[in-house]
Amino acid sequence: MKNKMVTVIQQSLSELMESEQFLPGLKDETRDRAFQSLVSILTTPNRVNKSFLRISLDNGKVVRIPAFRVQHNNTLGPYKGGIRFHESVNEDEVVNLAKLMTLKNALHDVPFGGGKGGVVINPREYSVKELNLICKKYVHYFSDTLGTEKDIPAPDIGTSEREMDWMMAEFKSIHPGETYRGSFTGKSVMNGGSLGRREATGKGVYYAYRYLLHDFIEENKNLLDNNKSNPFVKTAFEHRKRPLTIAVQGFGNVGSVAALEAHKCVYLQNKVVAVSDRNVTLYNSEGLDIPALINYSNQHEGDLPTTEKELEAEDIKATVQDRDGLLELDVDVLFLAALEDQIHQDNCKNIKARIIVEGANAPVTQDADKYLSNQGVLIIPDILANAGGVIVSYLEWIQGRETQFYKEEQVFKLLYDKMSATFKSVLPEFFNDPLPLRQNCYIHAVKKLSTILYRQGKLY
Ligand code: GLU
Repeated sequence: MKNKMVTVIQQSLSELMESEQFLPGLKDETRDRAFQSLVSILTTPNRVNKSFLRISLDNGKVVRIPAFRVQHNNTLGPYKGGIRFHESVNEDEVVNLAKLMTLKNALHDVPFGGGKGGVVINPREYSVKELNLICKKYVHYFSDTLGTEKDIPAPDIGTSEREMDWMMAEFKSIHPGETYRGSFTGKSVMNGGSLGRREATGKGVYYAYRYLLHDFIEENKNLLDNNKSNPFVKTAFEHRKRPLTIAVQGFGNVGSVAALEAHKCVYLQNKVVAVSDRNVTLYNSEGLDIPALINYSNQHEGDLPTTEKELEAEDIKATVQDRDGLLELDVDVLFLAALEDQIHQDNCKNIKARIIVEGANAPVTQDADKYLSNQGVLIIPDILANAGGVIVSYLEWIQGRETQFYKEEQVFKLLYDKMSATFKSVLPEFFNDPLPLRQNCYIHAVKKLSTILYRQGKLY
């Protein structure tokens, strides 16, 4: 995803500058200068914090583990974004993901800026005690820059409520007397987390798909009828009434919840025919038993069954297939809920799905995105689809401040309302012009940030 965010920010700003309605007070040279200022402000992070955490392993050896906390932009509020534990973490990636968080929060009207963290480890290779130490050291090394009103981390790939609980506790010990409940989100419910936070990203991913294919279309039939020459509208229109076959890449916190939502949805005739994880793809043309698979994975450290024998023992009907084959299956819809760069230049021509929903961040590379969009494939982008996590993080932050906690139904209702407000602000434009949805979302977010920067006098 290298430099991808720089390009999209530049493109969105160029597009906006063409319109006279955008910052009408700025003319000629002043307008050109403002454009340059906005490009430099929005494409560079405010701060890149990097450390090497000194960890004493269980075997007595001391190692140094590279760790990052990038604070991209705080125009809209404290920096906000997850901490990723993965062996492929690197500075460029964390910077790009922090930029994506800034735009995501702006798009969904969440009063936070954008940040992201990362630690270069494969968490499966460390004991619980070592992971606890890594979390404590992370907070220790970056403690000055973190806090309820400064920078609020959350879970991401390789981290969960357990790590957030540990980190919040460490933050509390380092900063006695300071407010601490809002210093980390995605905590366990017992420790001040929000009901529904764990499911929030997966639910939101499904809401995005359902909203576009059902709720919005039901409410806006005319808009659709008048725009059938738009290739994306055509794709949405063709798919809205018939049974849809779905394949889900990734069966973790996001993929499994999105798969379950699809499985039990009463608005669309979905059939989840394939799911995959780090080991296998499971396929059944009649539809998979998603609740049984979730049950299995909960009892097997998050893994799906990998053999016919294991499937039989659970009475789950499916064939075991190669993990990477899932992407090229003949299905209508792909939910991508694993890692980035999964659909790229080499495999994009083999993709048969006509609708792609990005549950992970940046699972489709820029080249592949361009190719598929030119083919009329409707891509519901990460920035729109996977914001459920940060939206419920925001609700958790509010609940922590009020020390009043919401019921689960309330959380999901607020999540749906917040996401549908965003859809209402971007979808009419999307249906009215031929730009892919991703660009519409970026333009919307960049417009908001630029307008506020202008009003705050930051462009001189
Ligand atoms: N890691 C999630 C994301 O990339 C959630 C971030 C948050 O809750 O702050 O959107």
